[in-house]
Amino acid sequence: MKHRFFAWALAAALVLTGCAQRSSSLSRTVYAMDTVMTLSVYNAAETALDAAEQELLRLDALLDRHEESSAVSAFNAAAADEPIMLDGELLSLLQKAMGITAATDGAFDVTVAPLMDAWGFGGEAYRVPSQDELNALLPLVGAGGLTLTDTSASHKNGVRIDLGGLAKGYAGQRVRDILTEHGVQSASIDLGGDVCLLGTKTDGSAWRVAVRDPQNSDDFLGILALEDCFVVTSGAYERGFEENGVRYHHIIDPATGYPAQSGLSSVSVVCADGAQADALSTAVFVLGESRALTLYQNAEALGLAPFELLLVRDDGTVLLTAGLYDRFTPEEGVSYAPVG
Ligand code: AMP
Ligand code: MG
Repeated sequence: MKHRFFAWALAAALVLTGCAQRSSSLSRTVYAMDTVMTLSVYNAAETALDAAEQELLRLDALLDRHEESSAVSAFNAAAADEPIMLDGELLSLLQKAMGITAATDGAFDVTVAPLMDAWGFGGEAYRVPSQDELNALLPLVGAGGLTLTDTSASHKNGVRIDLGGLAKGYAGQRVRDILTEHGVQSASIDLGGDVCLLGTKTDGSAWRVAVRDPQNSDDFLGILALEDCFVVTSGAYERGFEENGVRYHHIIDPATGYPAQSGLSSVSVVCADGAQADALSTAVFVLGESRALTLYQNAEALGLAPFELLLVRDDGTVLLTAGLYDRFTPEEGVSYAPVG
């Protein structure tokens, strides 16, 4: 059996900076959450970057389910149906995750951990699990496996959580808050393609974020002009393996146990809330175009912060919701259309 590893965690979006930006910039590369992260701040001191770096390392240690000493590992290792006191930050993140699970009909679900492991995305060797194996694991996946109170959480037997679908977005949000506390007004934070933009460029113009072509990762589909927001992208090409000529990627449909095949090859979510942007990018990739647009139209009623979508169909067509249409400049030959 042949495995070929492909494009590991390739940046899905890239912030383009002009010369004017570089004059007073400082930048820092941090390795956290299995990701090379680049923090660029303007008119700011190194101490702001020191604090941001510390925060990223702290969150990695808190949320990494493969790190034995993390709060997530302690929760996963707890006895079934035994409520354990949970770190307050982790508890609110879990509450948020479960709200998004409810809003997305279970397309986003942090209880996918047993499925991730079955496919080898937990760090073990990549493999295609048998249908029997998946059938045995599917009952462990679903919001019903978790119980949260104001201070504690418990899980049913065999249920485990994986926060990989929203951890980077949350981390971006914390970094943004810390930079703001340090008086920073202009920054671009690239957490491996999950981008956080603080303010505008120093000349007052919008940031330019290039969105990668999921079919050909050397190319870009176009550029989004944006300010003060998160741009989080989920794509089939980011992480995965190939077996016997078939590609398997890391975004699992909790309903089937298989990598999602929804007709979309990439989803970018633009939103002021980083954790929500991240969770929704994963969810929308699972939901596909038509269910994603229903989600978009009902965002407020579902208790979600306002967001916009850039979807790339498997055929390469780009779809943009109303708030992004005027902000997108396509590369030559890219066809795009408004939706929603
Ligand atoms: P992203 O790259 O943000 O789409 O997140 C993918 C990561 O989220 C995977 O590596 C898993 O850790 C986790 N994940 C995969 N599928 C799901 C899902 N359906 N719901 C929640 N988390 C998921
Ligand atoms: Mg995500």
